Amino acid sequence: MRRMLVAGNWKMHGALHQNSELLKRIAAEASGLLCEIAVCPPYPYLAQAQSLIEGSPLVLGAQSVSEHSSGAFTGEVAASMLAEFGCRYVLVGHSERRALYGETDAVVAVKFEAAQNAGLVPVLCVGETLSERESGETGAVVARQLSAVLGRLGVVAMRSAVVAYEPVWAIGTGVTASPAQAQEVHAAIRAQVAVLDSGIAAGLRILYGGSVKPQNAKELFGQSDIDGGLIGGAALVADDFLTICQAAN
Ligand code: PEP
Repeated sequence: MRRMLVAGNWKMHGALHQNSELLKRIAAEASGLLCEIAVCPPYPYLAQAQSLIEGSPLVLGAQSVSEHSSGAFTGEVAASMLAEFGCRYVLVGHSERRALYGETDAVVAVKFEAAQNAGLVPVLCVGETLSERESGETGAVVARQLSAVLGRLGVVAMRSAVVAYEPVWAIGTGVTASPAQAQEVHAAIRAQVAVLDSGIAAGLRILYGGSVKPQNAKELFGQSDIDGGLIGGAALVADDFLTICQAAN
């Protein structure tokens, strides 16, 4: 049985006061929910978030990580540093990182490995652009992104990892993949892993991300291969995020 996971990706949003209000509210109302709930604030707020969620069921994640373990890499943050601040999860290969910061499949796979080496659980983000979907390449693109990790680390790497299917055309656009569209890709991801190890595939959590809102969460999460969500904009509004978490319950 896979435990549902809802992870909030705050992106580059937040401020000390706002974070405090948001996290206190979510932490207070998260108790009693069966799903796992993670919040991924920007790096400077990890310490604040760590102390605010202490004793609550919330867990902490980060939005990116360096592929290096330490050294002269100005501006970068190592996985071991994230672990020191209590992170359990870290996103790797978010489409904004791929598109805006040139992260290739190969770099994403190294980041995935760096995260696991530090004891973090990588959340591998995959997904196609609108033009790739329109030209019928969705399956091939997602399979290629997943293969980069499977090829480097083998299927065992998926034992302690999460995959997030995030169609690029649905991220921050208000346009959501239909439950059937999402389910089709989630099933293909699981099948790709199952070819290598059916037990690992059966236990792998695959999240959907892309304009998840209180209005569409329940139907998306009701699909058999959707094990929760990676939530952007709606993770910044306590009521919306909590309603989405309840939908995953
Ligand atoms: C995201 O950034 O991972 C995301 C899913 O954003 P949104 O929910 O705003 O589409």
